[in-house]
Amino acid sequence: PDSHAHTSDKPKDKLLGGLLSPGFNEASCLSRYGSILYRKLSPHKPSPYLISKLRNYESLHKQCGTNTESYNATPNHLHRPRHDISDNDTCKYVVLLFFGHSGVGNRILSLVSSFLYAVLTNRLLLIDQGDDVAALLCEPFPEITWALPLDFPLRNQFERLDSNHPHCYGNMMKNKTVELSMDDSPPPFVFLNLVHDYNEHDKRFFCDRDQNIMKGVPWLLIRSNQYFIPSLFLMPLFEKELSKLFPEKETVFHHLGRYLVHPSNQVWGLITRYYETYLAESDERIGIQIRDFSSTGLPFQSSKELPFTYMMDRILDCSAQENLLPKVITNAQNSVLNATRNTKPKSVLVTSLSSWYFEKLRNMYPDNPAITGESITVFQPSHEESQQSNSAQHDMKALAEIYLLSLMDELITSPWSTFGYVAQGLGGLRPWILSNPPREMDSDSPCRRATSMEPCFHYPPSYGCGAKTGIDTGAKEYVRHCEDMSWGIKLF
Ligand code: GDP
Repeated sequence: PDSHAHTSDKPKDKLLGGLLSPGFNEASCLSRYGSILYRKLSPHKPSPYLISKLRNYESLHKQCGTNTESYNATPNHLHRPRHDISDNDTCKYVVLLFFGHSGVGNRILSLVSSFLYAVLTNRLLLIDQGDDVAALLCEPFPEITWALPLDFPLRNQFERLDSNHPHCYGNMMKNKTVELSMDDSPPPFVFLNLVHDYNEHDKRFFCDRDQNIMKGVPWLLIRSNQYFIPSLFLMPLFEKELSKLFPEKETVFHHLGRYLVHPSNQVWGLITRYYETYLAESDERIGIQIRDFSSTGLPFQSSKELPFTYMMDRILDCSAQENLLPKVITNAQNSVLNATRNTKPKSVLVTSLSSWYFEKLRNMYPDNPAITGESITVFQPSHEESQQSNSAQHDMKALAEIYLLSLMDELITSPWSTFGYVAQGLGGLRPWILSNPPREMDSDSPCRRATSMEPCFHYPPSYGCGAKTGIDTGAKEYVRHCEDMSWGIKLF
């Protein structure tokens, strides 16, 4: 790995500017301190305030985590009226429940969002291990796990928690079935639905008044598959704290992702073996992430209305326009070009469920010399054909590919894809997003540069809290509508 051009002469800062806590056992999670051998040094430094908040969070996690006195009192808390609970019971929790069998990208975005929410509200984050998180990620906090114990008393209700559940906060507010106000003693737990199809009542989560009501609730169970952080930035309640934590708004996911997302040793093995075998020797690495949402009618290969090669042409036009990859030339000129060919190798990492694009690209470059004489090699780590749920091996490959993409110098990504968002955020890259004129992106350009490396919140609330008319949630100076989804919002 030391052959990596970016890192060879630099002193290694394995704690990423203070973002990571020292003192973890290195062998138990090789990626945590090993990432710097593969990554460019980030030009973005975490603020001293963020660092101190993370260390405080880690202390809280030790104090309130599973198997502590406080956690062990949980069964009593969950079934006792609040007024019976003494003021010494200070630990409060956020439990993240994933949505169905969300993909790896969606899960990481909801993890990072819930973690920031926990930090902002002085709560502890525990995650439901129903999915294979442990196979994918190392424990991010020292000493005490972030996994919700299997005997957690409410676990048998998890499947039934949705917008209509009697403990769902939005539902409680709508029906006023339970008195819930700042004056009443709060219930021991509420469920918060933050999944993409949540309703207007669920969206009250993003209102200051409702957050103040939730303050006293010891257990908040959140179900999400979204990157909901941009909407937290629009809340007056958190505004000041968030500005102190993140003076540079577009680095929220970049820092928190690098803090939380450490691939397990098994996934790290996939990443490092692939990188060293195929990518380490290149001078420049380009990642192309192709996500064909066949259900949405985006004109990838499956499109009926547009030619089979429509997206392939967009990728090639984008690569040429942005000087990422050269155009190829036809046979007649070959002999002239071979003479001027230099040997600077460029690698292209293609990720996609299908191998169709990879094969096209791979066959194109050896068959035809590039106009610039560059030598281009194309790789694709896997082609799983279709998205699968409940397969740890499938998810491991997905995380490995997301991570490999994040190690590239430049990225071309597909619109709407959280797979690409995680890669760009971890890598600190502003990708070129493929345009899609027939639907979202009414543009003649084959791709457009993202305004920031931040992920897009696809389904933000579109009404202000208490406001009778709709407000433009993209109006704050550091929150914009997304390039790839006009109603989504992102930080920049
Ligand atoms: P999104 O659906 O694009 O927003 O991304 P997600 O990661 O949330 O869900 C897509 C899932 O499909 C991934 O987690 C993978 O399981 C699978 N998948 C999609 N694209 C790829 C790919 O390029 N490579 C691999 N290995 N899996 C993929």
